[in-house]
Amino acid sequence: MPLYEYQCKECGKAFSLRLRIEEHEKKRPKCPHCGSRKSTQQFSSFFAKTAKKS
Ligand SMILES: [Zn+2]
Repeated sequence: MPLYEYQCKECGKAFSLRLRIEEHEKKRPKCPHCGSRKSTQQFSSFFAKTAKKS
């Protein structure tokens, strides 16, 4: 399952969830810190890849 990273707009904390693609498309993830569904998806793994050159 792919790992999705989110940041909560309500409390500002980042969290990551493993979801199936169909789950990810259907559901808005719930913040584990405050329970809000106002979260935005982050693409930090993408940025980490481009920032590091080996
Ligand atoms: Zn939150």
